[in-house]
Amino acid sequence: MASYNYHIDEKRCKGCGLCVSICPKSVLDVSREVNANGYFPAYQARPEDCVTCAMCCTMCPDVAITINEIIEQAA
Ligand code: SF4
Ligand code: SF4
Repeated sequence: MASYNYHIDEKRCKGCGLCVSICPKSVLDVSREVNANGYFPAYQARPEDCVTCAMCCTMCPDVAITINEIIEQAA
């Protein structure tokens, strides 16, 4: 089974909460700590529930969320 690296770039996030509201699995939440720009960034509060549907990536107006498949290299 493929594994994925999920990343929210805190510096880009403006804390709009669109990703939080669109996620079908209620994985995301907004942090209680501000980032360098004074916004409360989104984070994966329940990463074990993520189905890597990428709806949050599509929704984010600031392109802050990336999901990359991890390619296992043969030794
Ligand atoms: S990839 Fe899908 S399930 Fe995972 S956090 Fe984003 S919207 Fe939610
Ligand atoms: S949609 Fe993007 S900018 Fe808005 S809270 Fe989510 S990651 Fe941050």
